[in-house]
Amino acid sequence: MTQPTQATQDDQENLLKGLDYSIVQQCMHCGMCLPTCPTYAETLEERSSPRGRIALMRGVADGHLEVSEDFAKEMYFCLGCLACQTACPAGVDYTNLFEHARAEIERTGVLATPRRTRIRSIALRWLFPSRRRLHALGWMLRLYQWTGLQWLVRSSRVLYLFPRWLRELEPLTPQVSRRFTATEHGRRRASQPTLPRHRVALLSGCVQDLAFADVNADTIDVLQFNGCEVLLPADQQCCGSLHGHNGELELARELARVNIDAFDPASLDAIIVNAGGCGSHMSHYDRLLADDEQYAQRAKIWSEKVRDIHEFLMEIDMRPPTGVLDIDGPVTYHESCHLRHGQGVSEAPRKILAAIQGLEMVELSEADWCCGSAGIYNITQPEMSMQLLDRKMGHVADTGATIVATGNPGCAVQIQHGLRLKSIHGTVLHPVTLLAQAYRAEPETDRKE
Ligand code: SF4
Ligand code: SF4
Repeated sequence: MTQPTQATQDDQENLLKGLDYSIVQQCMHCGMCLPTCPTYAETLEERSSPRGRIALMRGVADGHLEVSEDFAKEMYFCLGCLACQTACPAGVDYTNLFEHARAEIERTGVLATPRRTRIRSIALRWLFPSRRRLHALGWMLRLYQWTGLQWLVRSSRVLYLFPRWLRELEPLTPQVSRRFTATEHGRRRASQPTLPRHRVALLSGCVQDLAFADVNADTIDVLQFNGCEVLLPADQQCCGSLHGHNGELELARELARVNIDAFDPASLDAIIVNAGGCGSHMSHYDRLLADDEQYAQRAKIWSEKVRDIHEFLMEIDMRPPTGVLDIDGPVTYHESCHLRHGQGVSEAPRKILAAIQGLEMVELSEADWCCGSAGIYNITQPEMSMQLLDRKMGHVADTGATIVATGNPGCAVQIQHGLRLKSIHGTVLHPVTLLAQAYRAEPETDRKE
């Protein structure tokens, strides 16, 4: 039997070539996505547009192009914001293309350097797949923030002694939560409704758990105020979106399997997620595990049951809160890309905010334009990220809002950073936090199960 040549083996392994060709050739080059693409708007380069990127990916899939360093850099210059997917009349599955393009880049190693490999290995393989290690990191950050060391670092010029990447990373460090979600859930377990109408489980997340555990606590409260029994599976892990979007599809699959085992989706009415990026990725577990004989069926059930919290509250006919909030100034809403474009959830958060008495809502121009956070984009592409943040903060300033509501931890960190940079008086909150406050402000008698 003749051995396959090296070229044939590479062809067989090439992840873009292996992708269903109906996905690869979907783009009809109409250009309707171009005005919605933030990197195209900033550069006016065809190669940095969705149409240009898809043409490059097709070139690789057809064997006309090599996976070169230039190709790789362009794919990592893309935000993965998916605005092009919403705009596309041909239904291009950009998520799938983009994830496979990045996975192919990592498979071929065209960007590999010892430093990059080390950082990716620590973050993606060692840290994020372990809640124990994430909590340990959380404790270290707590010490850094609570002892006043962070204040000292920020108010002195000591950071200039460190490498540029660290100087740029430090201001993006989120405030670590006082308690992690599992502890908070323990406190709230006593408030489960006696006759629950829905049985749901919550993804506590990785960054959400470290820096926004109060949003998880607010989500649990809001669900309980609406007659839901809320479970918090103990063995859950990071959803794997960071891995899926950064070329580590096998690791993303491993994490998906762990979560499917931990949640047992068939026993639940819904799997609730309050982070746009996580929800978008989790709704694709069925695609991710389609070839896994053992998990494909359960992954299908999982994807059918994943619900963004805003969407779920609308589906179960959310009880409008009767409590009145006392808010100093209007509230505006920034749309997380993966909530808007990845999951198509746009009206539900606005309806929730509109249902809160005492809250004056003011629309944000370009509310669905990426803020530049985009997972770890603000770390890997700081220049473009800052350009986009600048654009976003200009619009925020125009609203005069004192609260920017948004449904994704990455956006919250990025916009909070923007408020500080631009000296805009205000804060960032999840819509569910405002809703929870409104429920807590109502008389006990209004809280019917
Ligand atoms: S995902 Fe966003 S940045 Fe990337 S091509 Fe689409 S619109 Fe442009
Ligand atoms: S809108 Fe869709 S079909 Fe048209 S160029 Fe963009 S990706 Fe291609």
